[in-house]
Amino acid sequence: MTIQEDIYTPQITLTECIDCGLCMATCPGHLVNFERLSTKMNGAKVNDAGIGRYSRCYLGYSTESSIRYNCASGGLVTQLLSYALEENMIDGALVIGMRKDKPFEPEAFIARNTDDLATAARSKYCPVAANEALKQILDEDGRYAVVGLPCHIHGIRKAEERVATLRKRIVLRLGLLCSHAVNFAGTDSILRKMMIRKEDVSELKYRGGGWPGFMSIRTSHRTKRIPLTGGWNAYWSMFASYFFTPMRCAMCPDQSAELADISFGDAWLPEMKKDQYGVSIIVARTKRGERILKLAETSKKIRLRAVTAEKVHQSQWTNLKFKKSDLSLRLRLFAALGMQRPMFTPKPANNHSPFSLLRTLYVYINIRSSTKKSVRTLLTYVPFPLLRLYYGLYKLLCMI
Ligand SMILES: Cc1cc2nc3c(=O)[nH]c(=O)nc-3n(C[C@H](O)[C@H](O)[C@H](O)COP(=O)(O)OP(=O)(O)OC[C@H]3O[C@@H](n4cnc5c(N)ncnc54)[C@H](O)[C@@H]3O)c2cc1C
Repeated sequence: MTIQEDIYTPQITLTECIDCGLCMATCPGHLVNFERLSTKMNGAKVNDAGIGRYSRCYLGYSTESSIRYNCASGGLVTQLLSYALEENMIDGALVIGMRKDKPFEPEAFIARNTDDLATAARSKYCPVAANEALKQILDEDGRYAVVGLPCHIHGIRKAEERVATLRKRIVLRLGLLCSHAVNFAGTDSILRKMMIRKEDVSELKYRGGGWPGFMSIRTSHRTKRIPLTGGWNAYWSMFASYFFTPMRCAMCPDQSAELADISFGDAWLPEMKKDQYGVSIIVARTKRGERILKLAETSKKIRLRAVTAEKVHQSQWTNLKFKKSDLSLRLRLFAALGMQRPMFTPKPANNHSPFSLLRTLYVYINIRSSTKKSVRTLLTYVPFPLLRLYYGLYKLLCMI
Protein backbone atom coordinates (compact mmCIF):
# COMPACT_ATOMS: atom_id res chain seq x y z
CA MET A 1 0.00 0.00 0.00
CA THR A 2 1.25 3.49 -0.78
CA ILE A 3 -0.28 6.85 0.08
CA GLN A 4 -1.68 8.51 -3.04
CA GLU A 5 -4.10 11.43 -3.05
CA ASP A 6 -4.34 11.30 0.74
CA ILE A 7 -5.49 7.66 0.99
CA TYR A 8 -3.83 4.23 0.82
CA THR A 9 -3.80 2.76 -2.66
CA PRO A 10 -2.96 -0.89 -3.35
CA GLN A 11 0.08 -1.51 -5.53
CA ILE A 12 0.86 -4.69 -7.46
CA THR A 13 4.52 -5.54 -7.92
CA LEU A 14 4.30 -6.91 -11.45
CA THR A 15 7.65 -8.72 -11.22
CA GLU A 16 6.29 -10.78 -8.29
CA CYS A 17 2.68 -11.21 -9.48
CA ILE A 18 1.76 -14.83 -10.31
CA ASP A 19 -1.57 -13.81 -11.82
CA CYS A 20 -3.61 -15.93 -9.38
CA GLY A 21 -6.43 -13.36 -9.18
CA LEU A 22 -6.58 -13.55 -5.37
CA CYS A 23 -6.15 -9.78 -4.92
CA MET A 24 -9.21 -9.03 -7.07
CA ALA A 25 -11.21 -11.89 -5.54
CA THR A 26 -10.67 -10.64 -2.00
CA CYS A 27 -10.65 -6.86 -2.61
CA PRO A 28 -13.62 -5.24 -0.85
CA GLY A 29 -13.33 -2.19 -3.10
CA HIS A 30 -15.11 -3.43 -6.19
CA LEU A 31 -17.60 -6.10 -5.08
CA VAL A 32 -19.29 -7.31 -1.88
CA ASN A 33 -21.99 -9.97 -1.80
CA PHE A 34 -23.65 -9.26 1.56
CA GLU A 35 -26.38 -11.79 0.93
CA ARG A 36 -23.98 -14.72 0.50
CA LEU A 37 -21.44 -13.69 3.16
CA SER A 38 -24.08 -12.91 5.77
CA THR A 39 -25.96 -16.18 5.19
CA LYS A 40 -22.67 -18.10 5.31
CA MET A 41 -21.60 -16.62 8.64
CA ASN A 42 -24.95 -16.83 10.37
CA GLY A 43 -26.83 -19.53 8.53
CA ALA A 44 -29.66 -17.03 8.58
CA LYS A 45 -30.75 -14.17 6.37
CA VAL A 46 -30.57 -10.45 7.08
CA ASN A 47 -33.36 -9.50 9.51
CA ASP A 48 -32.92 -5.70 9.59
CA ALA A 49 -32.52 -3.57 6.46
CA GLY A 50 -30.64 -0.87 8.38
CA ILE A 51 -28.17 -2.81 10.51
CA GLY A 52 -28.03 -6.24 8.85
CA ARG A 53 -28.37 -9.60 10.53
CA TYR A 54 -28.38 -9.35 14.35
CA SER A 55 -29.23 -11.60 17.26
CA ARG A 56 -29.32 -8.99 20.07
CA CYS A 57 -28.45 -5.35 20.64
CA TYR A 58 -27.04 -3.82 23.83
CA LEU A 59 -25.72 -0.74 25.50
CA GLY A 60 -22.55 -1.43 27.46
CA TYR A 61 -19.16 -0.44 28.77
CA SER A 62 -15.98 -1.79 30.34
CA THR A 63 -16.07 -1.97 34.15
CA GLU A 64 -12.40 -0.93 34.25
CA SER A 65 -12.59 2.85 34.54
CA SER A 66 -9.15 3.55 33.01
CA ILE A 67 -10.06 1.54 29.90
CA ARG A 68 -13.44 3.23 29.64
CA TYR A 69 -11.90 6.71 30.05
CA ASN A 70 -9.03 6.20 27.59
CA CYS A 71 -10.92 4.41 24.83
CA ALA A 72 -13.29 5.71 22.17
CA SER A 73 -16.72 5.08 23.64
CA GLY A 74 -17.34 2.36 26.25
CA GLY A 75 -13.92 0.69 25.83
CA LEU A 76 -15.62 -2.57 24.98
CA VAL A 77 -13.40 -3.51 22.03
CA THR A 78 -10.23 -3.16 24.09
CA GLN A 79 -11.82 -4.84 27.13
CA LEU A 80 -13.19 -7.83 25.20
CA LEU A 81 -9.87 -8.41 23.42
CA SER A 82 -8.03 -8.17 26.72
CA TYR A 83 -10.44 -10.68 28.27
CA ALA A 84 -10.09 -13.04 25.28
CA LEU A 85 -6.28 -12.93 25.59
CA GLU A 86 -6.35 -13.46 29.37
CA GLU A 87 -8.75 -16.40 29.05
CA ASN A 88 -6.64 -17.93 26.29
CA MET A 89 -9.47 -17.72 23.76
CA ILE A 90 -7.14 -16.03 21.28
CA ASP A 91 -3.36 -15.76 20.81
CA GLY A 92 -3.41 -12.31 19.27
CA ALA A 93 -5.59 -9.54 17.88
CA LEU A 94 -5.16 -7.49 14.73
CA VAL A 95 -5.50 -3.87 15.86
CA ILE A 96 -4.41 -0.40 14.75
CA GLY A 97 -1.93 1.83 16.55
CA MET A 98 -0.19 5.03 15.44
CA ARG A 99 3.48 4.79 14.43
CA LYS A 100 5.96 6.18 16.98
CA ASP A 101 8.30 7.52 14.28
CA LYS A 102 5.47 8.95 12.16
CA PRO A 103 2.69 10.06 14.54
CA PHE A 104 0.25 10.71 11.67
CA GLU A 105 0.49 7.25 10.17
CA PRO A 106 -1.52 4.33 11.50
CA GLU A 107 -0.03 0.88 11.73
CA ALA A 108 -1.76 -2.49 11.80
CA PHE A 109 -0.14 -4.98 14.17
CA ILE A 110 -0.89 -8.08 16.21
CA ALA A 111 -1.49 -7.26 19.89
CA ARG A 112 -0.38 -10.05 22.24
CA ASN A 113 -1.10 -8.48 25.63
CA THR A 114 -3.04 -5.72 27.38
CA ASP A 115 -0.21 -3.18 26.98
CA ASP A 116 -0.29 -3.68 23.21
CA LEU A 117 -4.06 -3.25 23.28
CA ALA A 118 -3.79 -0.01 25.26
CA THR A 119 -1.51 1.51 22.60
CA ALA A 120 -4.07 0.62 19.91
CA ALA A 121 -7.17 1.89 21.75
CA ARG A 122 -9.32 4.73 20.41
CA SER A 123 -10.62 5.53 16.91
CA LYS A 124 -8.21 6.57 14.16
CA TYR A 125 -9.85 9.11 11.87
CA CYS A 126 -7.45 8.60 9.00
CA PRO A 127 -7.01 5.93 6.30
CA VAL A 128 -6.02 2.54 7.73
CA ALA A 129 -4.53 -0.42 5.84
CA ALA A 130 -5.63 -3.18 8.24
CA ASN A 131 -4.83 -5.89 5.69
CA GLU A 132 -1.10 -5.25 6.15
CA ALA A 133 -1.06 -7.34 9.34
CA LEU A 134 -2.96 -10.27 7.79
CA LYS A 135 0.38 -11.59 6.58
CA GLN A 136 1.41 -12.14 10.20
CA ILE A 137 -1.73 -14.21 10.75
CA LEU A 138 -0.88 -16.25 7.65
CA ASP A 139 2.72 -16.72 8.81
CA GLU A 140 2.12 -17.68 12.44
CA ASP A 141 -0.17 -20.43 13.67
CA GLY A 142 -2.70 -19.45 16.35
CA ARG A 143 -6.20 -18.10 16.97
CA TYR A 144 -6.76 -14.47 16.16
CA ALA A 145 -9.35 -11.75 16.60
CA VAL A 146 -9.48 -8.90 14.08
CA VAL A 147 -10.85 -5.39 14.56
CA GLY A 148 -11.90 -3.26 11.64
CA LEU A 149 -14.21 -0.84 9.92
CA PRO A 150 -17.03 -2.31 7.81
CA CYS A 151 -14.81 -2.26 4.68
CA HIS A 152 -11.98 -4.05 6.51
CA ILE A 153 -14.38 -6.75 7.65
CA HIS A 154 -15.70 -7.11 4.06
CA GLY A 155 -12.15 -7.78 2.88
CA ILE A 156 -11.42 -10.16 5.74
CA ARG A 157 -14.60 -12.19 5.16
CA LYS A 158 -13.84 -12.36 1.44
CA ALA A 159 -10.25 -13.44 2.17
CA GLU A 160 -11.51 -16.09 4.61
CA GLU A 161 -13.73 -17.51 1.86
CA ARG A 162 -10.70 -18.02 -0.37
CA VAL A 163 -7.86 -18.78 2.07
CA ALA A 164 -8.34 -21.78 4.36
CA THR A 165 -5.53 -20.71 6.74
CA LEU A 166 -7.29 -17.43 7.46
CA ARG A 167 -10.62 -19.22 7.87
CA LYS A 168 -9.05 -21.49 10.49
CA ARG A 169 -7.06 -18.88 12.37
CA ILE A 170 -9.50 -15.95 12.54
CA VAL A 171 -11.92 -16.82 15.32
CA LEU A 172 -13.48 -13.44 16.12
CA ARG A 173 -14.24 -10.31 14.07
CA LEU A 174 -15.05 -7.10 15.92
CA GLY A 175 -16.47 -4.38 13.67
CA LEU A 176 -16.71 -0.63 14.24
CA LEU A 177 -19.76 1.29 13.14
CA CYS A 178 -18.63 3.75 10.50
CA SER A 179 -20.32 6.56 8.61
CA HIS A 180 -17.14 7.34 6.65
CA ALA A 181 -13.39 7.59 7.08
CA VAL A 182 -11.32 10.77 6.78
CA ASN A 183 -8.34 11.16 4.45
CA PHE A 184 -4.90 12.29 5.62
CA ALA A 185 -5.54 15.86 4.46
CA GLY A 186 -8.31 16.08 7.11
CA THR A 187 -5.80 15.83 9.95
CA ASP A 188 -3.47 18.30 8.20
CA SER A 189 -6.34 20.76 7.98
CA ILE A 190 -7.04 20.56 11.72
CA LEU A 191 -3.36 21.11 12.51
CA ARG A 192 -3.30 24.19 10.29
CA LYS A 193 -6.46 25.51 11.96
CA MET A 194 -4.80 25.03 15.34
CA MET A 195 -1.56 26.60 14.08
CA ILE A 196 0.52 23.55 14.93
CA ARG A 197 3.43 22.62 12.68
CA LYS A 198 3.35 18.98 11.63
CA GLU A 199 7.06 18.50 12.26
CA ASP A 200 6.63 19.56 15.91
CA VAL A 201 4.09 16.83 16.71
CA SER A 202 5.29 13.82 18.70
CA GLU A 203 1.92 12.17 19.43
CA LEU A 204 -1.60 12.41 18.04
CA LYS A 205 -4.75 10.88 19.51
CA TYR A 206 -8.09 11.38 17.79
CA ARG A 207 -10.12 10.42 20.87
CA GLY A 208 -9.80 9.56 24.58
CA GLY A 209 -10.17 11.56 27.77
CA GLY A 210 -13.74 10.53 28.54
CA TRP A 211 -16.72 10.67 26.22
CA PRO A 212 -17.11 11.83 23.50
CA GLY A 213 -13.50 12.79 24.13
CA PHE A 214 -10.85 14.96 22.55
CA MET A 215 -8.25 15.04 19.84
CA SER A 216 -4.99 15.63 21.65
CA ILE A 217 -1.83 16.73 19.92
CA ARG A 218 1.45 16.62 21.81
CA THR A 219 4.41 18.77 20.80
CA SER A 220 7.75 19.16 22.63
CA HIS A 221 6.41 21.88 24.94
CA ARG A 222 2.68 21.26 25.34
CA THR A 223 -0.41 19.17 24.57
CA LYS A 224 -3.32 20.86 22.80
CA ARG A 225 -6.80 19.37 23.03
CA ILE A 226 -9.88 19.95 20.95
CA PRO A 227 -13.26 18.28 21.57
CA LEU A 228 -14.66 15.69 19.13
CA THR A 229 -18.27 16.88 19.33
CA GLY A 230 -20.48 18.90 21.62
CA GLY A 231 -19.00 22.38 21.87
CA TRP A 232 -18.85 25.06 19.21
CA ASN A 233 -15.16 24.33 18.76
CA ALA A 234 -15.62 20.61 18.19
CA TYR A 235 -13.64 19.29 15.22
CA TRP A 236 -15.99 16.53 13.99
CA SER A 237 -18.38 19.06 12.41
CA MET A 238 -15.84 19.52 9.57
CA PHE A 239 -15.68 15.78 8.91
CA ALA A 240 -19.42 15.25 9.51
CA SER A 241 -19.97 17.65 6.61
CA TYR A 242 -18.04 15.16 4.43
CA PHE A 243 -15.05 17.40 3.85
CA PHE A 244 -12.00 15.14 3.41
CA THR A 245 -14.11 11.98 2.98
CA PRO A 246 -12.58 9.39 0.63
CA MET A 247 -14.92 9.04 -2.38
CA ARG A 248 -15.21 5.25 -1.93
CA CYS A 249 -16.83 5.87 1.49
CA ALA A 250 -19.67 7.67 -0.30
CA MET A 251 -20.32 4.40 -2.19
CA CYS A 252 -20.50 2.14 0.89
CA PRO A 253 -23.81 0.59 2.03
CA ASP A 254 -22.63 -0.63 5.44
CA GLN A 255 -22.94 1.59 8.53
CA SER A 256 -22.72 -1.11 11.17
CA ALA A 257 -20.08 -3.66 10.04
CA GLU A 258 -22.79 -6.11 9.05
CA LEU A 259 -20.34 -8.96 8.49
CA ALA A 260 -18.67 -8.81 11.93
CA ASP A 261 -19.40 -11.17 14.83
CA ILE A 262 -20.10 -8.12 16.98
CA SER A 263 -20.27 -4.44 16.00
CA PHE A 264 -19.58 -1.45 18.27
CA GLY A 265 -20.41 2.21 18.00
CA ASP A 266 -20.97 5.33 20.06
CA ALA A 267 -24.32 5.48 21.81
CA TRP A 268 -25.40 8.79 20.24
CA LEU A 269 -28.69 8.85 22.14
CA PRO A 270 -30.53 11.71 23.87
CA GLU A 271 -30.34 9.88 27.22
CA MET A 272 -26.51 9.69 26.92
CA LYS A 273 -26.02 13.40 26.28
CA LYS A 274 -24.76 14.06 29.81
CA ASP A 275 -22.56 10.95 30.00
CA GLN A 276 -18.85 11.76 30.37
CA TYR A 277 -17.39 8.26 30.65
CA GLY A 278 -18.60 6.49 27.51
CA VAL A 279 -21.22 3.92 26.56
CA SER A 280 -21.10 1.79 23.42
CA ILE A 281 -23.97 0.59 21.32
CA ILE A 282 -23.48 -3.06 20.42
CA VAL A 283 -24.91 -5.29 17.71
CA ALA A 284 -24.27 -9.00 18.37
CA ARG A 285 -24.69 -11.06 15.24
CA THR A 286 -23.23 -14.55 15.64
CA LYS A 287 -23.25 -17.23 18.33
CA ARG A 288 -19.55 -16.75 19.02
CA GLY A 289 -20.13 -13.01 19.34
CA GLU A 290 -22.96 -13.55 21.84
CA ARG A 291 -20.85 -16.08 23.75
CA ILE A 292 -17.88 -13.80 24.41
CA LEU A 293 -20.17 -10.94 25.43
CA LYS A 294 -21.98 -13.18 27.92
CA LEU A 295 -18.75 -14.64 29.33
CA ALA A 296 -17.19 -11.20 29.82
CA GLU A 297 -20.38 -9.99 31.47
CA THR A 298 -20.50 -12.96 33.83
CA SER A 299 -16.84 -12.30 34.72
CA LYS A 300 -17.86 -8.71 35.53
CA LYS A 301 -15.44 -7.29 32.95
CA ILE A 302 -18.23 -5.49 31.15
CA ARG A 303 -21.75 -4.24 31.83
CA LEU A 304 -24.50 -4.84 29.31
CA ARG A 305 -28.12 -3.75 28.98
CA ALA A 306 -30.26 -5.29 26.26
CA VAL A 307 -31.95 -2.76 23.96
CA THR A 308 -34.02 -3.03 20.80
CA ALA A 309 -32.55 -2.68 17.30
CA GLU A 310 -34.60 0.51 17.13
CA LYS A 311 -32.12 2.08 19.61
CA VAL A 312 -29.27 1.37 17.19
CA HIS A 313 -31.28 3.02 14.42
CA GLN A 314 -31.99 5.98 16.68
CA SER A 315 -28.33 6.43 17.61
CA GLN A 316 -27.19 6.31 13.96
CA TRP A 317 -30.13 7.93 12.19
CA THR A 318 -28.29 10.49 10.03
CA ASN A 319 -25.64 7.92 9.12
CA LEU A 320 -28.26 5.33 8.15
CA LYS A 321 -29.87 7.91 5.91
CA PHE A 322 -26.46 8.45 4.28
CA LYS A 323 -25.56 4.75 3.96
CA LYS A 324 -28.95 3.27 3.17
CA SER A 325 -31.64 5.73 2.00
CA ASP A 326 -29.49 8.00 -0.17
CA LEU A 327 -26.94 5.53 -1.54
CA SER A 328 -28.67 4.50 -4.75
CA LEU A 329 -29.17 8.13 -5.74
CA ARG A 330 -25.49 8.89 -5.07
CA LEU A 331 -24.47 5.88 -7.15
CA ARG A 332 -26.66 7.14 -10.00
CA LEU A 333 -24.98 10.54 -9.79
CA PHE A 334 -21.53 8.90 -9.82
CA ALA A 335 -22.57 6.80 -12.85
CA ALA A 336 -23.74 9.93 -14.66
CA LEU A 337 -20.36 11.50 -13.93
CA GLY A 338 -18.61 8.46 -15.41
CA MET A 339 -17.10 7.31 -12.09
CA GLN A 340 -16.31 3.67 -11.32
CA ARG A 341 -18.67 2.18 -8.74
CA PRO A 342 -18.58 -1.02 -6.67
CA MET A 343 -21.14 -3.81 -7.07
CA PHE A 344 -23.24 -4.98 -4.14
CA THR A 345 -25.69 -7.81 -3.61
CA PRO A 346 -28.42 -6.97 -2.79
CA LYS A 347 -28.53 -3.74 -4.78
CA PRO A 348 -29.04 -0.61 -2.62
CA ALA A 349 -32.75 0.14 -2.21
CA ASN A 350 -34.44 3.06 -3.95
CA ASN A 351 -36.17 4.75 -1.03
CA HIS A 352 -35.41 8.42 -1.58
CA SER A 353 -37.27 11.36 -0.18
CA PRO A 354 -37.52 14.67 -2.04
CA PHE A 355 -34.57 15.92 0.02
CA SER A 356 -32.28 13.04 -0.95
CA LEU A 357 -31.08 14.97 -3.99
CA LEU A 358 -30.10 17.99 -1.88
CA ARG A 359 -28.22 15.76 0.58
CA THR A 360 -26.56 13.96 -2.32
CA LEU A 361 -25.32 17.23 -3.81
CA TYR A 362 -24.18 18.47 -0.38
CA VAL A 363 -22.09 15.32 0.11
CA TYR A 364 -20.66 15.24 -3.42
CA ILE A 365 -19.76 18.95 -3.51
CA ASN A 366 -18.01 18.81 -0.14
CA ILE A 367 -16.00 15.70 -0.97
CA ARG A 368 -14.96 17.02 -4.38
CA SER A 369 -14.25 20.57 -3.27
CA SER A 370 -12.05 19.48 -0.36
CA THR A 371 -9.64 17.85 -2.84
CA LYS A 372 -8.93 21.34 -4.21
CA LYS A 373 -6.07 23.36 -2.82
CA SER A 374 -8.09 26.58 -2.79
CA VAL A 375 -10.91 25.03 -0.69
CA ARG A 376 -8.40 23.44 1.68
CA THR A 377 -6.83 26.85 2.23
CA LEU A 378 -10.26 28.38 2.74
CA LEU A 379 -11.21 25.69 5.28
CA THR A 380 -8.12 26.60 7.30
CA TYR A 381 -9.67 30.00 7.95
CA VAL A 382 -13.30 28.95 8.46
CA PRO A 383 -13.79 28.75 12.24
CA PHE A 384 -15.24 25.55 13.74
CA PRO A 385 -18.48 27.28 14.91
CA LEU A 386 -19.24 28.18 11.28
CA LEU A 387 -18.52 24.62 10.19
CA ARG A 388 -20.89 23.45 12.89
CA LEU A 389 -23.64 25.67 11.51
CA TYR A 390 -22.89 24.32 8.04
CA TYR A 391 -23.23 20.74 9.33
CA GLY A 392 -26.52 21.84 10.94
CA LEU A 393 -27.81 22.47 7.42
CA TYR A 394 -27.15 18.82 6.48
CA LYS A 395 -28.84 17.63 9.67
CA LEU A 396 -31.83 19.79 8.82
CA LEU A 397 -31.96 18.22 5.36
CA CYS A 398 -31.98 14.82 7.08
CA MET A 399 -34.87 15.78 9.34
CA ILE A 400 -37.25 16.98 6.65
C1 LIG B 1 -13.32 6.04 10.91
C2 LIG B 1 -14.32 5.71 11.99
C3 LIG B 1 -15.65 6.09 11.83
C4 LIG B 1 -16.59 5.77 12.82
N1 LIG B 1 -17.91 6.12 12.63
C5 LIG B 1 -18.82 5.84 13.58
C6 LIG B 1 -20.18 6.18 13.40
O1 LIG B 1 -20.58 6.70 12.35
N2 LIG B 1 -21.07 5.90 14.42
C7 LIG B 1 -20.65 5.32 15.58
O2 LIG B 1 -21.47 5.12 16.47
N3 LIG B 1 -19.37 4.93 15.75
C8 LIG B 1 -18.44 5.17 14.79
N4 LIG B 1 -17.15 4.76 14.95
C9 LIG B 1 -16.83 3.83 16.05
C10 LIG B 1 -16.48 4.50 17.35
O3 LIG B 1 -15.63 5.61 17.10
C11 LIG B 1 -15.72 3.52 18.28
O4 LIG B 1 -14.62 2.99 17.59
C12 LIG B 1 -16.55 2.39 18.75
O5 LIG B 1 -17.63 2.90 19.46
C13 LIG B 1 -15.78 1.41 19.66
O6 LIG B 1 -15.46 2.05 20.84
P1 LIG B 1 -14.58 1.33 21.98
O7 LIG B 1 -14.43 2.30 23.09
O8 LIG B 1 -15.16 0.00 22.25
O9 LIG B 1 -13.21 1.15 21.18
P2 LIG B 1 -11.73 1.05 21.78
O10 LIG B 1 -11.74 0.15 22.96
O11 LIG B 1 -11.16 2.40 21.90
O12 LIG B 1 -11.02 0.28 20.61
C14 LIG B 1 -11.00 0.76 19.31
C15 LIG B 1 -10.42 -0.35 18.45
O13 LIG B 1 -10.64 -0.01 17.09
C16 LIG B 1 -9.43 -0.12 16.35
N5 LIG B 1 -9.46 0.98 15.38
C17 LIG B 1 -9.48 2.30 15.66
N6 LIG B 1 -9.55 3.01 14.53
C18 LIG B 1 -9.58 2.14 13.52
C19 LIG B 1 -9.66 2.29 12.11
N7 LIG B 1 -9.71 3.48 11.53
N8 LIG B 1 -9.66 1.17 11.36
C20 LIG B 1 -9.61 -0.05 11.94
N9 LIG B 1 -9.55 -0.24 13.28
C21 LIG B 1 -9.53 0.84 14.04
C22 LIG B 1 -8.32 0.02 17.36
O14 LIG B 1 -7.20 -0.71 16.98
C23 LIG B 1 -8.94 -0.53 18.65
O15 LIG B 1 -8.67 -1.89 18.77
C24 LIG B 1 -16.18 5.08 13.98
C25 LIG B 1 -14.84 4.72 14.14
C26 LIG B 1 -13.91 5.03 13.16
C27 LIG B 1 -12.47 4.62 13.36
